[in-house]
Amino acid sequence: MAMIYCRDCGYKHSDRARACPKCGRVVFDADKSIVIYLVLLWLFGVFGAHRFYAGKVKTGLAILIMFLFGLFSFPVLVAFASAGADVAAMLFMGLGLISFFAACIWVFIDFIVTLCNIRHPEKIFAKK
Ligand SMILES: [Zn+2]
Repeated sequence: MAMIYCRDCGYKHSDRARACPKCGRVVFDADKSIVIYLVLLWLFGVFGAHRFYAGKVKTGLAILIMFLFGLFSFPVLVAFASAGADVAAMLFMGLGLISFFAACIWVFIDFIVTLCNIRHPEKIFAKK
């Protein structure tokens, strides 16, 4: 745990704090660029790249897993289903499709939220 100085009031506090205990300024990594974030979101959003960049590894992994599960479940299960339409395989394929579209919708919502907060990087890069 390191100590940092608040960029607004200069109060020294833990870098693990979500906000400055004195003035309430949200702690975020000011070196991160909203432009790079948007480019990653636009080009590699379904791989969770923008969330990895923002330091939100868990939700980045969630998007990545949901997208890849959906992507790879589809051709594999089409092959299974054509070999003999199995209800369980069809159900699994349905889950894959839902997972795929859920990841896409999540990334689309991330894009809208980012555009709405483009002048407030602390809301995008805030810890936790
Ligand atoms: Zn402060």
